[in-house]
Amino acid sequence: ARGPYDDENIFAKILRGEIPSTKVYEDEWSYAFEDINPQAPTHVLVIPKGKYRSWVDFTESASAEEIAGFIRAVGAVARELGLEDDGYRLLVNAGKNAHQMVPHLHVHVFAGRPLGPMLA
Ligand code: 5GP
Repeated sequence: ARGPYDDENIFAKILRGEIPSTKVYEDEWSYAFEDINPQAPTHVLVIPKGKYRSWVDFTESASAEEIAGFIRAVGAVARELGLEDDGYRLLVNAGKNAHQMVPHLHVHVFAGRPLGPMLA
C-alpha cells in the first residue's frame, strides 16, 4: 500500500456512499461497518474517514487529533458491541506480505468465538 491514495478503492466508495455497507459506528473521524466476508461471528472494519493507505501513511500524515480520534473509535466499537467480557482481536494488514487487499487503512475487529492463538 505505497504510492498515492487510490480514490477508487472500495472503502473510499463506501465512505462516499457509492457502495452500501452495514454501519456499526460512526463519528467525526471514523466509520465502522460489517465485513462482507466475516471470519468470525463479529467481524467489523474500522476505517479513518481521511485518505490513508496504511498504518505508516496514517501515523505519519494524520493530525494527532485524527489519530487519537480513530484509536478511540476502535475502542468505542469494542465497547458498544459488548465485546469486552468475552474478548476480541484487533488486526491491521499492511502491504503484500500481510495480504492487504484494500488500500485504505482498516482495523479488523474479530469476536464472538474463541479465536485461537495468534498468527506467527
Ligand atoms: P484486508 O485483506 O485488506 O486486510 O481486508 C479487506 C477486508 O475487506 C476483507 O476482510 C474483505 O472481506 C472486506 N471487503 C472487501 N470488499 C468489501 C466490500 O465491498 N464491503 C465490505 N463490507 N467489506 C469488504
